[in-house]
Amino acid sequence: MSRDNSKEEASAEELERRAQSLREGEEIDFQDKLEVMRFTQQKKHIYMHTILLFMMVCFMAYQVSSKNPISAMNVIGMVWVVISHGIDYLMCYKRYYFRHRILTGTKLNLVASVIFFSATYEMNAIAALFGFSVYILYFVEYIECIEFTNSEEKEKTAVAMAAFFAVTYILVSLMTPVRLSLVEIILLIGIVCIALYTLVEQIYNYLDHYVTYISELNHEKAELLQKNSSLSEQSTKIKEAVNLLGVQKIELSNAYETIQIQNQEMKMHNEILGIVSTEKDMEQFAERITNVLINWDNICAVGLFVDALIYGNSYPLICAKVPQDANLEEQFRKSAENILFEIHHFDEDFQIDINSLPEQYTFLKKSGTKSLIRIQILTEGGMCGALVLGSKDPKNFDSESGSFYLSIATQIGIAVKNANLYATMENLATRDGLTGIYNRRHFNKLFSDYVTSAMDGRLPIAVALFDIDKFKNVNDTYGHSFGDMVIVTVSHIANEIVEKNGGILGRYGGEEFMMAFLNRNVEELLPIVEEIHEKIKAAELNHNGDVVKINVSIGVTDYPNTCSNPADLLNHADWAMYYSKQHGRGRITVDGENVWAENQ
Ligand code: GH3
Ligand code: MG
Ligand code: MG
Repeated sequence: MSRDNSKEEASAEELERRAQSLREGEEIDFQDKLEVMRFTQQKKHIYMHTILLFMMVCFMAYQVSSKNPISAMNVIGMVWVVISHGIDYLMCYKRYYFRHRILTGTKLNLVASVIFFSATYEMNAIAALFGFSVYILYFVEYIECIEFTNSEEKEKTAVAMAAFFAVTYILVSLMTPVRLSLVEIILLIGIVCIALYTLVEQIYNYLDHYVTYISELNHEKAELLQKNSSLSEQSTKIKEAVNLLGVQKIELSNAYETIQIQNQEMKMHNEILGIVSTEKDMEQFAERITNVLINWDNICAVGLFVDALIYGNSYPLICAKVPQDANLEEQFRKSAENILFEIHHFDEDFQIDINSLPEQYTFLKKSGTKSLIRIQILTEGGMCGALVLGSKDPKNFDSESGSFYLSIATQIGIAVKNANLYATMENLATRDGLTGIYNRRHFNKLFSDYVTSAMDGRLPIAVALFDIDKFKNVNDTYGHSFGDMVIVTVSHIANEIVEKNGGILGRYGGEEFMMAFLNRNVEELLPIVEEIHEKIKAAELNHNGDVVKINVSIGVTDYPNTCSNPADLLNHADWAMYYSKQHGRGRITVDGENVWAENQ
């Protein structure tokens, strides 16, 4: 038990007040309790020193009155003891710091014991008496020193040394036979009683300290238990928090995974969006989209199909991918029409098969396909195509991933719509509104490409121009809209034959049409023109039950045979056609000298 010396000691009044509170059973701070105890003890010291001083003074008076012979040494020793106890008493009285008192008292008493020790040469009972009293005091102070001061080794050693000298002195004194007078016996008994009282008191104090200490420990223990329970409560809370954190961590990692997937999906969307917005050619578009899809996740088969006549395409668009199996790919392509037909009848936008493949797709098993998703590609006009994806993972497709693939199908639908718009725009720019064949401007452009190719590759070009005969009459007789129908019929007959033979046909004027063939000469053109002529002549146009027959006048020319300058080809054809008009209509005229002659 050490005490905190830095703490300022309370005043005597304050300590009295605290001692009173303690007596009344009030709970006070442990350190304060110790302070009160020390204070009480000091007061007892004062009483004890008073009694001792009184007894010594009595003894000295007795010695002097009995005229006992005492040595000078004894007198010095006694005087010294009186002085030292007197100083001790004063210090206690003035309430100097307890440890200072002990220090000073110990040093003084040490000197006193040395003097007594030297006085043992003159052994007598009085010397033994004082020696004993000094011993008791030293013992008491030794205990106090241990109990209440900082463990300063110097003090303890000084006290211990003084106690050792005193004990030695007493032992030596006791070994010497002494004869005591009655007064000496009474004094001896008195001193022994005081000493014993002090000792017992000290032991009580000591026990008291321990009881207080133990109660304080119990108090601390209770506090610790309380702290412990609150700590364990907190620990439970922390555990709960840790558990919660664990759950949140799992949730976070799930969220992270979802974000990763979404991120990848977004990348794919972006890639597809890029293709949708940049690729105008639908064949290329389908190729690029299916390439992206086949490299995605566990996809092992992709089919992208668009119906015919959706964006100006005469045939269905078919693009299938089955990596490393050309035969399967071919089979997939061949199934396109059936697939489109079947998907047209879906009630939902998409259908997922995760356990077994529908019968018509069983061939895909060879590619490792274990699950399938079939999605309609929709435009405003309804379904225009289908997207079919096969996955190696038997459970790859669910409603969530279905939505993702559906959104891709939507993008493809947008691309189809764009292609349709683009085709419409292109048609508007290049084709004649009534007949659908090339307009004059576009025909001229294509024709100039022919001329360039012809010049570069030394190829011939064959050209024919025809005009419906007496068309004004048709208009006048049957009306303008019937006239329109005649123009359309004629253009379709001609266009079918021209396209079949690899040429181009354009509407050159009201009911005038021009055709051109690269790498053909007049001889090769004539059968084509004759076929057109025959078919037009044979066409029976019905007007309210009346059969209307028409004919055309045709002029034919070619480069380099009949016309050496390609820039003059159209004029030559015109002259030849004009020649037909001039020579009875309804006939074919080949460009030649007679035509030029007439034209001059
Ligand atoms: P010819 O045998 O000399 O060619 O006699 P034609 O009556 O056909 O004479 P021409 O070629 O000069 O007349 C063409 C007529 O075609 C004039 C115009 O009213 C008519 N026409 C031009 N474009 C259209 C059209 O888009 N629709 C209709 N219904 N008639 C048109
Ligand atoms: Mg005409
Ligand atoms: Mg005309």
